[in-house]
Amino acid sequence: MIDPATEKVIAEVELADEAAADAAIERARAAAPGWAAVAPGDRARLLRRFAEQVDADLDELARLEVANAGHTIGNARWEAGNVRDVLHYAAGIPERLLGSQIPVSGGVNITFNEPLGVVGVIVPWNFPMPIAAWGFGPALAAGNTVVVKPAEATPLTALRLAELAARAGLPDGVFQVVLGAGAVVGQRFVTHPAVRKVVFTGSTVVGKQIMAGCAAQVKRVTLELGGKSANIVFADADLERAAATAPYGVFDNAGQDCCARSRILVQREVFDRFLELLEPAVRGVRVGDPNDEATEMGPLISAAHRERVMGFVEPSTVAYTGACPSGPGFWYPPTVVLPNGASDRVLTEEVFGPVVAVLPFEDEADAVRIANATDYGLSGSIWTSDVGRALRVSRAVEAGNLSVNSHSSVRYWTPFGGFKQSGLGRELGPDAASAFTETKNVFIAT
Ligand code: NAD
Repeated sequence: MIDPATEKVIAEVELADEAAADAAIERARAAAPGWAAVAPGDRARLLRRFAEQVDADLDELARLEVANAGHTIGNARWEAGNVRDVLHYAAGIPERLLGSQIPVSGGVNITFNEPLGVVGVIVPWNFPMPIAAWGFGPALAAGNTVVVKPAEATPLTALRLAELAARAGLPDGVFQVVLGAGAVVGQRFVTHPAVRKVVFTGSTVVGKQIMAGCAAQVKRVTLELGGKSANIVFADADLERAAATAPYGVFDNAGQDCCARSRILVQREVFDRFLELLEPAVRGVRVGDPNDEATEMGPLISAAHRERVMGFVEPSTVAYTGACPSGPGFWYPPTVVLPNGASDRVLTEEVFGPVVAVLPFEDEADAVRIANATDYGLSGSIWTSDVGRALRVSRAVEAGNLSVNSHSSVRYWTPFGGFKQSGLGRELGPDAASAFTETKNVFIAT
């Protein structure tokens, strides 16, 4: 494993082969009936204990993520805290997983929420901790056993979470982490018949392969994929605040964020003024040592990923950039580009780096048209002082998670997921557990 801020090797790990993946899946299969039979209150208690272990280890988890993924220490603490909170929230599920009684004649009709069995959770490198927890928290709560496969580049916090789960007293085989290549371990989740559901977060390209593979067994799948979200700034908005916060909306986690608002759409009459206001905000982003509490943006994950990001910027017109260290480390500065026409790749493809395209629109209809002119539909922001417009545009933009006069769209107690090619299904929120159960309908003749 390489620290992306220093390029130093910080750890070596062994990757599982197909046989090791199968062994973990078999352990999870063997543990499934026992875990499903644990009394709801006891399952809740174990999840709460898991949450408490995460809380006690929060600083260690955060430091590991800083070293392994280059996240700023502030972000990494939030991410570890999010795992704790997701687990506490999940601990409220077992006792509230209610079936129903439906009026019928000649008997009684009741429904049960049955766990699926083994759930495989495939995680990307950009938010290794929370994304794993959004899958395993509700899955465990609903009575499933879970095998997590972290991304090849960022396995260290997942390994630590497995230790914490064991320390919390989760029975053997209920929660496992298997390191390995996507094409080996990830694919085994897709093809092994004992895995009843795959939760995949990652690129849209791989997500489509996972969905096609799962179709062979009609396997359940949740997909959380890429994004190309719009930050729409109307002329009646608080422009100072919109400009001051726009860098956070796209450069958080160095832009390696599926919700990054990587297109800023600005109403034409305030376009020049907005670009002027945005410049000091972009130049002011503090990029550097992720262990420094004042740092706002760390490095990119790898040299190869930086090359990819550069490939988007080179053909574009750069308006201005912020500053970043020169190296070692995979640094890239916050960058604002003016796209060369509607088909510019920087407007249509996910850059997944600290690059934002700014472009003008004429009126409300034009803003919605541009915002929706993408195959993605994950997130977005709307800046306006007109509540009617805020609601109209929120309804018209095809995206799963929107925020008005804010860039915040992730809360563990509200649903998260994408429209169109940004994904399938929802995580988090009050209905999270229903993605991990089958409804069984039983009629009892009287
Ligand atoms: P990726 O698709 O390359 O890999 C994601 C995971 O899938 C990794 O663990 C990888 O090993 C595994 N994998 C790769 N090929 C596989 C295969 N053939 N079969 C099974 N598993 C396979 O994505 P990435 O580069 O790690 O992550 C970045 C992407 O994730 C971006 O597109 C980003 O938008 C997306 N993402 C989406 C969300 C969301 O909630 N919508 C959140 C975070 C990241």
